[in-house]
Amino acid sequence: MATPCDVAIIGGGVVGTSVAYFLKQLAPTARVAVIERDSTYEFASTLRASGGARRQFSCPENVAMSNFSIPFIASADATLAVDGESAHVEWRAGGYLLIVGPDAVDTLRANYELQCAQDVAADWLDADALRARFPSMNVDGIAAGVHTPGDGWCDPNGLLQGLRRKSRSLGVRYIDASVVGIEHDAQVARGVRIESGAIVAADYIVNAAGAWSREIAAMVGMPLPIEPLRRFEHYFETPNVIEPLPYVKDTARLAFRPEGRGYSGGLVDSDETRGYNFDVDHGYFERAVWPALAERFPAFEACRCRRTWAGLYEQNELDGNPVIGNWPARMENFFVVAGFSGHGMMHAPAAGRAVAELIVDGRFATLDLSRLGYRRIAEHAPYRERGIV
Ligand SMILES: Cc1cc2nc3c(=O)[nH]c(=O)nc-3n(C[C@H](O)[C@H](O)[C@H](O)COP(=O)(O)OP(=O)(O)OC[C@H]3O[C@@H](n4cnc5c(N)ncnc54)[C@H](O)[C@@H]3O)c2cc1C
Repeated sequence: MATPCDVAIIGGGVVGTSVAYFLKQLAPTARVAVIERDSTYEFASTLRASGGARRQFSCPENVAMSNFSIPFIASADATLAVDGESAHVEWRAGGYLLIVGPDAVDTLRANYELQCAQDVAADWLDADALRARFPSMNVDGIAAGVHTPGDGWCDPNGLLQGLRRKSRSLGVRYIDASVVGIEHDAQVARGVRIESGAIVAADYIVNAAGAWSREIAAMVGMPLPIEPLRRFEHYFETPNVIEPLPYVKDTARLAFRPEGRGYSGGLVDSDETRGYNFDVDHGYFERAVWPALAERFPAFEACRCRRTWAGLYEQNELDGNPVIGNWPARMENFFVVAGFSGHGMMHAPAAGRAVAELIVDGRFATLDLSRLGYRRIAEHAPYRERGIV
């Protein structure tokens, strides 16, 4: 039997580590353990993410999570400092720009109004305004865009390491082990079994295993529709001069942002076969990404892809939104915080705080995220995000 704890968090990526950090903020004496099987995070989604953080969503919960998370990330270098040494999150408030054709303009307008009502600084740009603001952009087929100048991007590994170092300094215990089972009876989870056979007894168990969270949920018999979805990220350069760009996204799921001398981004293939596949298809950039880039920004006709890597989205197949909460009426001390479907880095601070509140206060104390709970999964009642995903 390993040393027991109050809360055992399975998965020490940015989401699990954020839960640990906020638990120690709310309950400094709580005994919190994070069980992470790979402290190098070789395959963790967090280290393969693009780092984007935006407020442009259609579900008010997602906007609200960004409204908390983005200022948290922006000031994390200081907040997460340990013994006077700051974190290295490298936040850049480069802004976000979502662009749509005529078929999606009503949705964009509705989302824009919702975001404004939630105090997001956002600019509505019609095609002429887009052309004037971003002269390199070909606006053929584009009806409008929304620019949110306070959004931006960071180094996801910097955020993870900052949260991890700070959490450890506050007393969070990291256990380097693979979780192979969960001890439980009909209604209560009792502890986490690791590969040595030892059991970490816990009053609360949190499943923050990202793309692997369905397997962790299955250990207590909980069905969770979260699947690993491979997505490529590319670093590319062009010799042509382009004005400073924000993080640009369109409805075909092309998304990219400036990075160093070049750009980082990709184009999600939603039809990709689900599975733990990290193979890189070196033809994908040329086949799918480059034509989309060059059509929208002709300056990219001359671009060159310097590096491609593959990572996993933890895709919620029901509705593309995260599952945040416990298993109501079944195993109330077992919590899930997964299924962010491409937004887990940006929403990790808010989701971590929310789960910490559920455990410490027994309710959402700041943001009401109940619509993102497990109930909708059990009832097969999707709550869909209608921003550009
Ligand atoms: C190419 C790409 C680009 C992305 N871009 C963005 C972006 O711009 N903005 C954004 O917000 N998000 C982005 N994402 C999504 C983001 O990376 C994820 O949503 C986020 O990192 C999820 O964090 P996590 O902690 O849940 O998962 P992870 O970082 O994957 O952490 C889960 C951890 O659980 C551990 N684990 C799993 N099973 C076990 C077990 N049995 N025992 C012990 N440990 C276990 C794993 O080792 C892993 O470290 C992107 C993802 C990809 C792939």
